[in-house]
This record gives sequence, C-alpha cells and structure tokens, in this order.
Amino acid sequence: MKRDSFGLYLHIPFCFNKCPYCDFNSYAVSLVPEKEYVSALIAELDFRAYESNWRGKTVKSIYFGGGTPSVFKAKSIDRIISFICSSFAVAEDVEISLEANPGTLTADLLAQFKVAGVNRISIGAQSFNSQTLKTLGRIHSASHTEAAVEAARSAGFRNLSLDLIYGVPGQSVSDFKVDLRRIIELEPEHVSPYGLTIEKGTPFFQSYKSGRLILPPEDDVVQMMEELNSSLSGAGFERYEISNYARPGREAIHNLNYWDAQDYLGVGAGAHSFNSNCEISRRKGTKKVCRRWVNYHLPNRYMKEAIARGKAEASSETLNKQDLIFEFFFLGLRKVEGVSLKDFKERFDQEVKEVYPVLLDVLLDRGLIALTDENLALSERGLLFADSVIENFADPELSARLPREELSDKIVTFPVKEEKKEGQSLKIANS
Ligand code: SF4
Repeated sequence: MKRDSFGLYLHIPFCFNKCPYCDFNSYAVSLVPEKEYVSALIAELDFRAYESNWRGKTVKSIYFGGGTPSVFKAKSIDRIISFICSSFAVAEDVEISLEANPGTLTADLLAQFKVAGVNRISIGAQSFNSQTLKTLGRIHSASHTEAAVEAARSAGFRNLSLDLIYGVPGQSVSDFKVDLRRIIELEPEHVSPYGLTIEKGTPFFQSYKSGRLILPPEDDVVQMMEELNSSLSGAGFERYEISNYARPGREAIHNLNYWDAQDYLGVGAGAHSFNSNCEISRRKGTKKVCRRWVNYHLPNRYMKEAIARGKAEASSETLNKQDLIFEFFFLGLRKVEGVSLKDFKERFDQEVKEVYPVLLDVLLDRGLIALTDENLALSERGLLFADSVIENFADPELSARLPREELSDKIVTFPVKEEKKEGQSLKIANS
C-alpha cells in the first residue's frame, strides 16, 4: 500500500434545491453560510495538517464535492486551496476537481475557479431531456449544461467530466440514446453515468411506495446499460470502473485512490476519512491501526465542533485484517482492471487463492470473474452483477468452509446497482 500520499476531500453540503431522488448529505438553503463554513473547513484542515498521520505525506488529489460546491464564491475556493497548499505537501501535478451544478455556473465564476487552481470540473448534466430534468427536480436545463461546457472550455479547463442518469421514471430507451448522443457531442474527457436508485427517506421513495412513481421496465434499463457501453466505447471512452468512463489517461485520480483502497482525508460535514497507519493513544503508549471515521452530518453541528476543536468526528472504527480484505475487493473489483494479486500479497502477506480457495473456482466456473497471473477482475458478465458477486468476498472464513455446491447455490446474481456515496467513497457526482 502506498502510504506516502493521500486524497483530500472537502464536502460542501449546500444546494439551492433538494432533488427528490437525492439522499446525499445535502441541504437546500436560500442563504449559504459560506463565511462560517469556510472558517470551519480551514480550522479542520489546520488541525489535520499538524497530525502525524498526515504530515510528511503528499496530497495527490483535492476534490470539492457536495452538495453543490459551485454555490460558493471562487474567492472561498481560492482561500481553501491556498490554505491547503501552505499547510500540506501538495503534489506538483495535483488534480483539483470541483463538482458543479450547471444551473449555478457562469463564465465569470468558471474563469475564477480556474484562476483559484481548480483544474477539473465535474458537471452534473444528468440529462438533456426537459421532461427527465423536471422529473429529477433539477434546477437547470440542457442549454445551461451546454453553456457551462462552452464557458469551461473558454476558461481553459482541459479536463471535464459530465454526469448522466438513466432509468428515470418516464425515460425511454430512445430518450436515453439522445442523451448519450448529446453528451458525446460535448466531447468531455470523462463521463459518469449511473442508474437511478430509489433511496429510503427521499420523496421518490414515498412516491414509489405509493405507486405514483413508476420506474422504466427492467429490460429497458438493461438496454440503456448496453447502449451506454456501446455508445461511449464507440466514441473513444474506456470504461475503467463500473460506472465511469474516460478518455485514455483522463481517469479520475481522486476516485481511483478510493478504489485502490488508499488513504483519504475528508473534511466538512459528514465527510469520511481512512488512514491505514493511524496513531492512536493507549494507556501503555501509542499504537498504529487502520482507522476510519466520519464527521458530524449536520452543517451547524459540524461548524460548531470544527471551529471549537479543530475536529468534528461523530464516530470512528478500527478495521481488522478481515475488514481490510473485504474493502480491498469491495472497492478494487469495481475497477475494470480489477485488483492486483501482487498488491494483495504485499498488503496481507497471503495469496488470494489461499484466502478464497473455493470461491475463486466457483466464480470462474460461473463466468463471473477473470483471473490472470497478475490480476483478478470481474468478467463482462460479472460486471453486470457486480454487487452480488463482490459481496461473496465479505466472509473469507465462510467461503473457505462451505462445500463447493453450497457456495455455488449461495451465489445469486442481480443486476448491478451503482454505489452512490461519492466524492466520498464510491462516488457518483451529484451536483
Ligand atoms: S442531487 Fe446534487 S444538486 Fe440535487 S440535492 Fe443532491 S447534492 Fe444537491
């Protein structure tokens, strides 16, 4: 594991409107408490910069996620980036991404973000169909997205990502084909398409339960997934993760860091952090552990804690070897290239085949994985059922103990459902 660098995530939880499908830690506000929130972020960054856990390591990516980071003025983003550069060791070629809602972008704002140091913009296009955008409760139109892309190019951005949603109520396969064509015409470097999921606690969930919201038939959704793959591949994009496509060399460095199960520091309301070599104090001295923690979710509580104490951790856990092995597969198998067998051996001092002696054979027989001398990856078919396949890696002891037939019966496959916890974690842009 590379312990000399990490990804830095900053969560900006404010939006102008709460989309009815969204279960991210985001809040609709008419007045953004920008000054106070920036002070809280800086207080937390200052606290972490002095911790031995992060000192001496290089920041290889900075990611402003949300919520809608583009509700902030460029001078706030500039202040935060300047503070990071003066407090942490930052890689010369650092990737600095900012998620933006097309409805909040102007040419001036984009130009100022560029001057502040942002070098990658992730625009939440979601669709170009006015009815689909309306159903999703988006505040922008297709022309906002097109104008934002043009303004970003004029401002000098050479690394643009666009998000797209499919499987939206009322959306047909031909509607989605038009969305794909229009996204390709805009020539972004990166595309993150994801299938709509109905999340508990959202207005969509209520409407879905009561029968007022009807999702497209599963066959249509599968057809949309197939269209997605063939259109984007035909346009020169490479699929490098379950729901991410990039032109060669334009993969998101920040998100690859998560999928490679490397360290990351998250600051802001509800942000998650992971440190594989974290120092903790014990009665008999200090000890190094793998630790993961999450900040308070509510912005007011977060700001209060961060400003008063520099940190705002709501809860934390230490991870044991079994947790880490599962994380390794849970995250790494999302990548099309899969996980490196050498990396596994270096981290866990064991061969993958020793940990999952029967499971690998069963998954190979079922055509769900591909195994080479270097890598273990999901096969084409396995990618369709990624969640169901990956969850079998959760319990190495069980998979080693169960007889082959029983294990095979246990593996039931369901179509993939993208994880939506970005910026943080497995992302999916959301602005
Ligand atoms: S989807 Fe994006 S813009 Fe909509 S509420 Fe969620 S975070 Fe805000």
